[in-house]
Amino acid sequence: MQSIGENWRRGQAVLAQAGIASARLEARLLLEHVSRCRHVDLLTHPEKLLEAAARTLFDALLARRVTGEPLAYLLGETEFRGRVFQVSPAVLIPRPETEVLIELALDKLRGLTAPRVLDLGTGSGIVAISLALECPAARLVAVDVSPEALSVARSNAGRLAAPVDFRAGDWFAPVAGERFDLIVSNPPYVAGGDLHLALNGLPFEPQLALTDGADGLACIRHIVAGAPAHMQAGGWLLFEHGYDQGEASRNLLTDGAFKATFTHRDLSGIDRVSGASL
Ligand code: GLN
Repeated sequence: MQSIGENWRRGQAVLAQAGIASARLEARLLLEHVSRCRHVDLLTHPEKLLEAAARTLFDALLARRVTGEPLAYLLGETEFRGRVFQVSPAVLIPRPETEVLIELALDKLRGLTAPRVLDLGTGSGIVAISLALECPAARLVAVDVSPEALSVARSNAGRLAAPVDFRAGDWFAPVAGERFDLIVSNPPYVAGGDLHLALNGLPFEPQLALTDGADGLACIRHIVAGAPAHMQAGGWLLFEHGYDQGEASRNLLTDGAFKATFTHRDLSGIDRVSGASL
């Protein structure tokens, strides 16, 4: 039986061999996951033995990671904005750039008394849950077409004690006749043929959440067209989009009934979120 220290080194070598940049860190996180050891145990008691069942699981996870499966799916969770969210292959893995959408939303909500907020295509629920927790005055409704995604989102909201009203359905269908002060969305916006879909673990993520299978703007068009009937006058629509979709997004908004149209960049200086007021 090998020690946890030896397994850490072995796991690191396997991942490094496969070209994974943070091999030492990832091997440690996988080892902690299978052994219930903490970082401090690995450092202070590397001679502790790893049980056979844990080693079998560790090897299986290393093999999956080597094929490119994202670490977050192997661990079943990831961090976003300082909170731990469960993820499964039914939901997109949270991306740091989505914080831009949340910051802008919080800015629009500041000072409102009991704003109603709609999150379209909530996935793991990160946007709705972060807003519910960071703006307790807001009343959140979150929609997703995938029942599997909604069950992940509901579980995250439960664990994080975030009050969010989750509803199953296609975009605006579950909110017929309702109006909101703010609508937010991180929709699928990668174009169907985009080579990016074959890289960086994206083949393991739900394609429904990544791409519209068309020009990348189909869902954004649908959201911009449907939003006015579900917004209060003076309300805001904000959505995330791809690096080259800022101008097209602003044009869709200004061609619609919207004013005060803008695009905001992410920390990498890339056009990331567009929005406008009704
Ligand atoms: N930003 C993601 C990516 O490029 C796509 C997210 C999305 O389509 N909503 O991988």
